[in-house]
Amino acid sequence: MADWMKNVEPLTLKGQIAVPYSWWVGATGSRFLIALRDEKKIMGSRCGECGTVYVPPRKNCGRCFRDMDEWVELGNEGEVKSFSIVHTPFKLHPAKAPFAYALIKLDGADVALLHIVTGGLDALKRGARVRAKFREERTGHILDIESFELLP
Ligand SMILES: [Zn+2]
Repeated sequence: MADWMKNVEPLTLKGQIAVPYSWWVGATGSRFLIALRDEKKIMGSRCGECGTVYVPPRKNCGRCFRDMDEWVELGNEGEVKSFSIVHTPFKLHPAKAPFAYALIKLDGADVALLHIVTGGLDALKRGARVRAKFREERTGHILDIESFELLP
């Protein structure tokens, strides 16, 4: 440390900057998002060792750390495992409040997908059945699934 710094209090200031960026989602992420965009299909990956089905798909199993290359098409319906309702509007939210962030275990998957539920929030509860609603114009983004909607 330089001598002139020995008696200087290390003061910091908080700030915030916006940094637009893009990144490659990888081969696994690309296949997942292209299936959403082009086919309205939700694809997962299955581990050949333990059989765990992940969605979004992963390249490696989080349980046994093996590479995965088996793809499975999942249904568009699933069960809400947990949720949190958002009431406060904010420009970066993926939907107009109120909506719910929810962990949704799609039929055929072993892990939950984080997405949003819109509409019918008064009836939303753990175990509720939901169905994916796809956007008409899709771009290869997780929000090509506009939201999940409660099933009667
Ligand atoms: Zn595994």
